[in-house]
Amino acid sequence: MPIYALVDVNNFYASAERLFRPDLARRPVVVLSNNDGCIVARSAEVKALGVPMGEPYFRVRDTLQSAGTAVFSSNYALYADLSARVMRTLEELAPAVEVYSIDEAFLDLTGLDALSDPLEFGRQVQARVLSDVGLPVSVGIGPTKTLAKLANYIAKQDPQHNGVACLREPDRRTKALKNIPVKEVWGVGGRFAERLEALGVRSAADLALLRDSRIRQLFPVTLARTAEELRGRACHDLDSEPAPQQQIICSRTFGAPIREYSAMREAVADYAVRAAERLRGTGQYAGALTVFLRTNPHLAAEPQHTPSASSRLPVPTADTRDLLTAALHIAEQLWQPGYAYIKAGIMLAELQSPAASADLFTDHSARARSEQLMHTVDAINRRHGQSAVTFGVQRRGPAGWRMRRKNLSPAYTTRWSDLPVVR
Ligand SMILES: [Mg+2]
Repeated sequence: MPIYALVDVNNFYASAERLFRPDLARRPVVVLSNNDGCIVARSAEVKALGVPMGEPYFRVRDTLQSAGTAVFSSNYALYADLSARVMRTLEELAPAVEVYSIDEAFLDLTGLDALSDPLEFGRQVQARVLSDVGLPVSVGIGPTKTLAKLANYIAKQDPQHNGVACLREPDRRTKALKNIPVKEVWGVGGRFAERLEALGVRSAADLALLRDSRIRQLFPVTLARTAEELRGRACHDLDSEPAPQQQIICSRTFGAPIREYSAMREAVADYAVRAAERLRGTGQYAGALTVFLRTNPHLAAEPQHTPSASSRLPVPTADTRDLLTAALHIAEQLWQPGYAYIKAGIMLAELQSPAASADLFTDHSARARSEQLMHTVDAINRRHGQSAVTFGVQRRGPAGWRMRRKNLSPAYTTRWSDLPVVR
C-alpha cells in the first residue's frame, strides 16, 4: 500500500522571522504583504488574538501594537533560502519528494522501513528539520496525498498531537473525518464547499460516503478522485518532476504611482532583469516577451490605461541585455503621459531548451560568450546580493516606485553583511 507524508512549516514566514531573533520567541509576530498592505503570516499568538489572515494591516494595527507585536515586511530572499534548506533536509529523509509550495512538500514513504511506526517517523522529521534549519514543521501521514494533507490539518488543529498525525488505520480515519468540515479537504475549498453543503455533505466523512455516480453527475471528475482518495485509495502519485515552466511573470505594484517615463523605464528594466535571472534558473531560453502597464482600476474617476504588447525575440535568448532591449523598446511604445500607473510587468514565453532554439544560423561562439557572462553576473549577485552587478538602465538604491518594505528584516542567510552576529 502506498503511503505519503505532507510536511508543512508552521506559520512559515513568521517562524522564519523568528529564526534569527530569539528575542521574539514569545512575542507575537506578523508579516505583511507587498507594500506592507495585508497580513500574510501570523504567529500562534496573533492567531489567538483573533486577527484573520489577509486582513489589511491598518485595521488591526492598534490591536497588534497593544499586544507588543513585531511587524515585518515580506523578506522573500530569506524565505526562499530557508525553504530550499527545508527541502534539502526532506530529500535526505525520503526517497522521493514533491515540493508543493514554498513551505510544503509531499514525501512518498512507500516501502520505507521507518513506517512500522509512522508517528515516530513524523517526530524524526520534525527533529531533523528543527536541528538542520531551525524551523518547526507539522507532519501528516496517510495512504493517499489527500489524507496526508488532512492528517496535517489535524496535526495542526489539536495541540495534543504535537504536530504529527496519521490517518493510515481505517477505523481511526472514519472517526477523524467526521470532525473535519468538507471545505478543509484538499481540492474542495470554497469552490465546491457551498454546493456540497447544500446537498447535506458537511464533513470529509460525508464526502467519502457520497456515491461516486452522484459526484460524477454533479461535479467535475477531479472531485470524484478526491472522494476516492478520502476512502483510502490513491489516485494521485508523487509528481517529483514538475512540468517545465511554460512562462515566467515578473510583475509588481509600485510603492507609489509612476507619472514619469524615466521612473517607468527603471521599473521595467528592473523587472526584465529579474525575469531574465529566473529564466536562466530554469535552464531555458525565451522566444517571446510581453510588457504590460496598469493604472489603478479602483480609482474610477481617474483616466485608465492598461496597455500591453508582445514581441517575438529575433533569436531565443536568456541574455539579460537582449531581454532588456526588447522590454524597453515595448515599454517606450506603450507609455502615454498623463496617466498614473500603479503596476508594470514582464512575461517571458515560448520557453525552450537552448538546444531546441539553435539552427543553422546560430552563432555558437557568441552564444557561449553570452552564457559565460550571464553565468558570472548571476554568480556575483548570488554571492553579494541581488544588485551587486546591475545593468546601465537600472536604478541603484531607493526609488518611490519600489515596494514599500518599511519593516524588512535583514537577509540573514543570503547577504554577507547581514550575517547575524553572536556575542
Ligand atoms: Mg505552512
